[in-house]
Amino acid sequence: MKVDLHTHTVASGHAWGTLFENVKEAKSKGIKLLAITDHGPSALGASTDVYFKSLKRIPKTIDGVRILSGVEANIINNKGKLDLEDEVLKKLDVVIVGFHKRCGYTDQGIKKNTKVLIKAMQNPYVKMLSHPYQSKIKIDIEKITQEAIKRNILLEINASYFFTKKIADKEIMDKLKLMIKILKENKKKMIINSDAHNPYEIGNFDDVISRFDELGINEDNLLNNDKEAVFKFFNIS
Ligand SMILES: [Zn+2]
Ligand SMILES: [Zn+2]
Repeated sequence: MKVDLHTHTVASGHAWGTLFENVKEAKSKGIKLLAITDHGPSALGASTDVYFKSLKRIPKTIDGVRILSGVEANIINNKGKLDLEDEVLKKLDVVIVGFHKRCGYTDQGIKKNTKVLIKAMQNPYVKMLSHPYQSKIKIDIEKITQEAIKRNILLEINASYFFTKKIADKEIMDKLKLMIKILKENKKKMIINSDAHNPYEIGNFDDVISRFDELGINEDNLLNNDKEAVFKFFNIS
């Protein structure tokens, strides 16, 4: 697996790797394309918009690893507004949205949560959803997957769930399997991301790979080994 598009640094406030420690680990794991996607400003302890505006000053390539700038943005209200302005989002390579608790939006049940996430997906800069089947703020995974297909938004399989919890929850697995089934029926690719919160977790995909049969996927269903396809998808030159 050559690509990891969801990773955190110390700038998230509750992660432990610096950019350079993460890059070093990426290189040792054979990751060629690494996105730095720290939590958006509304997460407790996260960085301000100044940090995200300054990401353009990171070298494009460090030690042979291509670096993409990004954010895991939060939804802050019922209109699906994100915690970075569009003028900041449009300068980032990889804009992820994911529901997290205590980041502005309050859980209002599956129906309302789904509606609000769909509103956030209408933001043209949103290109990927983090762990859509797995948030404590629950959503209708079938509706969200259909919306992602319609809007060409990439859905991730979050590896951290598998390396932090050795026994997977049935409800979460059922939702993940449903997401995968719908994506496969529509011939859409998905991506595995580490969601690393310390350097050693970068590119740590073994626990997902060992479940490929159970999940009904193989490498052909993933974007992880196709750097060019990733560049094309995120419109990166
Ligand atoms: Zn997350
Ligand atoms: Zn994350």
